[in-house]
Amino acid sequence: MQNSKLKIKKLLPEIKENISLKEHTTFRIGGRTRYFFCGKKKEDIIRATKTAKKINLPFFILGGGSNVLFSDKNFEGMVIKTQNSKLKIQNCNILAEAGTPLSLLVQKAEKNNLSGFEWAIGIPGTIGGAVYGNASALGEAIGNLVEWVEVLDLKNFKIKKFSKKECKFGYKNSIFKRKKNLVILSVALKLKKGNKEKIKQEMERILKIRKEIQPLNYPSGGCIFKNVKCQMSNVLPAGRHGKTKKLFEKFPELEEFAKKGEIPAGFLIDKAGLKGKRIGDAMISKKHANFIVNLKNAKAEDVKKLINYIKEKVKKIFGIELEEEIIIFPH
Ligand SMILES: Cc1cc2nc3c(=O)[nH]c(=O)nc-3n(C[C@H](O)[C@H](O)[C@H](O)COP(=O)(O)OP(=O)(O)OC[C@H]3O[C@@H](n4cnc5c(N)ncnc54)[C@H](O)[C@@H]3O)c2cc1C
Repeated sequence: MQNSKLKIKKLLPEIKENISLKEHTTFRIGGRTRYFFCGKKKEDIIRATKTAKKINLPFFILGGGSNVLFSDKNFEGMVIKTQNSKLKIQNCNILAEAGTPLSLLVQKAEKNNLSGFEWAIGIPGTIGGAVYGNASALGEAIGNLVEWVEVLDLKNFKIKKFSKKECKFGYKNSIFKRKKNLVILSVALKLKKGNKEKIKQEMERILKIRKEIQPLNYPSGGCIFKNVKCQMSNVLPAGRHGKTKKLFEKFPELEEFAKKGEIPAGFLIDKAGLKGKRIGDAMISKKHANFIVNLKNAKAEDVKKLINYIKEKVKKIFGIELEEEIIIFPH
């Protein structure tokens, strides 16, 4: 142990020790990490991951911490926070390093009369985190804007470029989420020329919607569950008779959502009567049922219990299995 500490200190002199992860997530939840390293440049991230691998130290790549729930227990490894944020805009192309805040990108797009990114206003976190989970809102997704992604392959420490196709974007999903060996270093996006006034108006409209529907006055990790993508027959297995028929009668919107192929998780949680349900200081938001908010000193254990409670109730009432969107670490 002492030997590894010396090696780490030698290879990563700027590393910090015993850092609270609460301070690095929007949920304001989490224990301490033994080591914490900020990668301000691409090379720093490569150096940190190489060092961790060399001494067999587990590590976790952290962006803005807006989609993670860290355990209350301490992490005996290294959290590597991406803070590499070089940004270049040329015509309609944006090249951004992984640690670039999404909010900055949205702002820059507007400033340069570039349209296509308005929907992302108000989403916290970094472009790296957004690409990892294919962040989306109001029918738009980051994957649609991606040209290519530069990644570090932890298997051989080679840097590769993944085309949009190779990123295998899906709903809240990508190759980076499925495989665990890829660290996003930078992202190339393509937008289109737009009218500044229209872009601004659209951003204001979207921000207003967000403020209306999201509980932004409490710490949270965004939506806890993915919406349910479905075909009528497989999500509601009983088909259009029996239990399903009764459900449609009781909740007419459910049939409408199912017909469109997507049932909002928030709708199911709300209709299960769970808004306001509280365990410790973790509470299902009264404003948006797919948010769990931290009222003050919520523990990860409280949030996890609430997650399981929601899953059980929704399964019992609707026969639907909800899947977490939030990254729980360690799982
Ligand atoms: C109030 C609020 C509103 C939100 N609204 C939305 C919304 O409308 N739509 C939406 O999609 N999300 C939303 N989110 C969730 C979240 O903001 C997004 O998912 C965001 O893109 C996560 O980025 P991040 O940098 O914070 O990632 P983090 O939370 O830091 O990390 C998330 C995952 O990505 C991985 N990761 C991060 N960076 C890299 C990298 N460079 N290379 C490899 N892996 C990486 C991490 O290891 C982790 O597994 C919201 C969250 C909050 C708190």
